Amino acid sequence: MLSYGKFYDVNLINFIESFPDETSCKQRFKEIRDKEGVICRKCGNKNHYWLGTIWQYQCKTCKTRTTLRSGTVMQASKLPFKYWFLAIHLLTGTKKTFSALELQRQLGHKYYEPVWFMLQKLRKTMGVRDQDYKLDKVVELDEGFFESVDTEKDPDDKGVKLKRGRGSQRQTTVMVMASTIHSVSKPGKHKKPTKFRYVKMIVVDNLKAKTIEHEVDENIDSNSIVRTDNYSSYSNLKDHVWVHQAQVVTPKEAGKVLPWVHIMISNAKRTLLGVHHMISKKYFQDYVDEFCYKVNRRYFGESLFDRLLIACVSINYKNFVNVTR
Ligand SMILES: [Zn+2]
Repeated sequence: MLSYGKFYDVNLINFIESFPDETSCKQRFKEIRDKEGVICRKCGNKNHYWLGTIWQYQCKTCKTRTTLRSGTVMQASKLPFKYWFLAIHLLTGTKKTFSALELQRQLGHKYYEPVWFMLQKLRKTMGVRDQDYKLDKVVELDEGFFESVDTEKDPDDKGVKLKRGRGSQRQTTVMVMASTIHSVSKPGKHKKPTKFRYVKMIVVDNLKAKTIEHEVDENIDSNSIVRTDNYSSYSNLKDHVWVHQAQVVTPKEAGKVLPWVHIMISNAKRTLLGVHHMISKKYFQDYVDEFCYKVNRRYFGESLFDRLLIACVSINYKNFVNVTR
């Protein structure tokens, strides 16, 4: 079995000792905001006073006040900082993921919806972060089909009843790209398998050539070698990347010819569908974003918590078109 590296389980005791209460969470959040810089939404000025008694920044130029949450992923959320911190800890500190229902239970919070929105915003933050990178070197590309439901609401929601039978549950098509690198084998020795580097998963509406080429342009460096099967929609990829290697692949051989995409697809299915049972097609991208973000940062260890926290402060929350609360 090919292994793609170790996940670190972050120690819960350390987390509780670092963030025992609301004030310690706010303090840490403020430290990160101070470091990342606060920008006045009215005049764009970057210099602020800190009004300690009311926990707000005040612009030195126009006196506009900015709350600790304003302009961050937590804007408009009424949930305590400690809920956000615990959610970030659970999402980054474990290999598995968490359903909103389970988190709601763990937090003992009365309402499901705000907890669900909090997790979705964190997943979107992860997705936005990974958009900054393109895959390169040797990239395996294939499609995965994930079970999902065609509903506006998330099926973690207690109110949603899934229809049984044909047509009620759908498959979501995901383009899966895995960047790899060749291990150098000594002459005469057994040929070593490729090493896995990074993964991207993109939910697509169809597998037309135009759709695939667009996503390849967006997600793969044009100097890469791209490996696929000989599906007709891939026939013009040679115009989009340095080298396109298309191979005739029988379904039985797919795991051998494109090993890493298939490992990623089966791991994602196990991780996501094991926890969430059914995921709405509409939100599927967010769930695979979380999966990829964690796989791509599997060597970061405990620093992953801070990295996601920094992302929560520094990315533009207006990117979150689907999550309005
Ligand atoms: Zn200002």
